[in-house]
Amino acid sequence: MARFSARALIANALTGNRGWTPHWPDAEPKAAYDVVVVGAGAHGLGAAYYLAKEHGLTNVAVIDKGWLGGGNTGRNTTIIRSNYLYDESARLYDHSVKLWENLSQELNYNVMFSQRGVMMLAHSVHDVQSFRRHISANRANGVDNEWLTPAQAQAYCPPLSIAPDARYPVMGAALQRRGGVARHDAVAWGYARGAAERGVDIIQNCPVLAIRRDAQGRVEGVDTAKGFIRAKKVAVSAAGHSSVLMESAGVRMPLESYPLQALVSEPIKPVFPCVTMSNSVHAYISQSDKGELVIGAGTDAYTSYTQRGGLHILEHTLAAICEIFPVFSRLRMLRSWGGIVDVTPDRSPILGLTPVAGLFVNCGWGTGGFKATPGAAHVLAHTVATGAPHPINAPFTLERFTTGRLIDEAAAAAVAH
Ligand SMILES: Cc1cc2nc3c(=O)[nH]c(=O)nc-3n(C[C@H](O)[C@H](O)[C@H](O)COP(=O)(O)OP(=O)(O)OC[C@H]3O[C@@H](n4cnc5c(N)ncnc54)[C@H](O)[C@@H]3O)c2cc1C
Repeated sequence: MARFSARALIANALTGNRGWTPHWPDAEPKAAYDVVVVGAGAHGLGAAYYLAKEHGLTNVAVIDKGWLGGGNTGRNTTIIRSNYLYDESARLYDHSVKLWENLSQELNYNVMFSQRGVMMLAHSVHDVQSFRRHISANRANGVDNEWLTPAQAQAYCPPLSIAPDARYPVMGAALQRRGGVARHDAVAWGYARGAAERGVDIIQNCPVLAIRRDAQGRVEGVDTAKGFIRAKKVAVSAAGHSSVLMESAGVRMPLESYPLQALVSEPIKPVFPCVTMSNSVHAYISQSDKGELVIGAGTDAYTSYTQRGGLHILEHTLAAICEIFPVFSRLRMLRSWGGIVDVTPDRSPILGLTPVAGLFVNCGWGTGGFKATPGAAHVLAHTVATGAPHPINAPFTLERFTTGRLIDEAAAAAVAH
């Protein structure tokens, strides 16, 4: 596969760009694989990439019911940060941020990772106390996070209103400077290209209908729209559809699937230099390289698989944006969309072994798994290849919901973007 370099760009520019080869071939399924990954989101593709690159496993297929990256990977607001409260989360998400920092070089593919800083606004005394607690816990874990006064927050994000009589007054902010955004499609494409280059089959438009087990209860393969595919190991990385797939293998998951929406404004000149989040009023905003303001909303209050949410959620989000950034009140919105997010009771993922031999799972990322993509994919590949969890994902078991050893980011932040 052609490598991207300044030389290749110039050579192709001078020859009508006819020298580029497809990034990955559209594979047809073989009868059997060592590993089948269900779900060609960036998590599944990344796991296949690391299986091939770091564990020498290349007889691998990644199967998707649609097109690769067409699930939550291509629908999220791309916020990346690692300032979670609990030690287990900080280790997992910071492992990811460290991998993000070198991902474009690693994949020879520009994922446009931009560490422009993620600022979380405090609007109440409770917010102030909770963010200061996060900052202290993060620093103890070697994760950067710092407190800003309202004036410092406005200096970092000039469109922010810090009027003291506002409905949601800004009482300060927590800033993680290493946080930021990346181009979501490019992450899926980069991993797909890297995996395919190493021999992984990427099979699109092929729904997995069920996971099949043999008489001993071990995983045997997957039934798909293109027939049965035998596999020694199956890894489910199917976001909002994980519980349905796992149920077909007889495993009941503590997951609820909700629509989560986002929207973008008309493009404007660069005015928003960072990512700003407000958990209390539930609005998240950054600016894309095209100039659109990228705005994240909250989940619907009810479960659904429709990939679009209620209009009132968007109205609430835009009302909140106008309160915090009155300067945007006359902007027009261009388009909105939704994805189906898989939410666990403690808002932390389930990542590792399952009660079924040969079956692995990576799910429960809810509203915040994009940031974890490289880290989750990396430790999932380790777990699948070795049959044992990596120390980083060892705490994120399915059993924690029966033992009670939760990683309660739900209580810590009430949101997990
Ligand atoms: C609107 C929105 C905003 C978000 N904002 C952020 C954010 O700012 N920061 C952040 O960190 N996270 C965010 N997230 C969450 C993030 O997008 C997800 O956690 C992450 O992308 C999950 O990646 P994935 O690869 O596991 O899932 P996906 O990309 O959804 O991949 C799963 C794949 O499985 C496939 N699949 C499902 N069922 C089957 C089947 N039966 N057979 C075959 N294939 C199947 C799907 O087609 C899909 O392609 C957001 C999500 C949404 C919806």
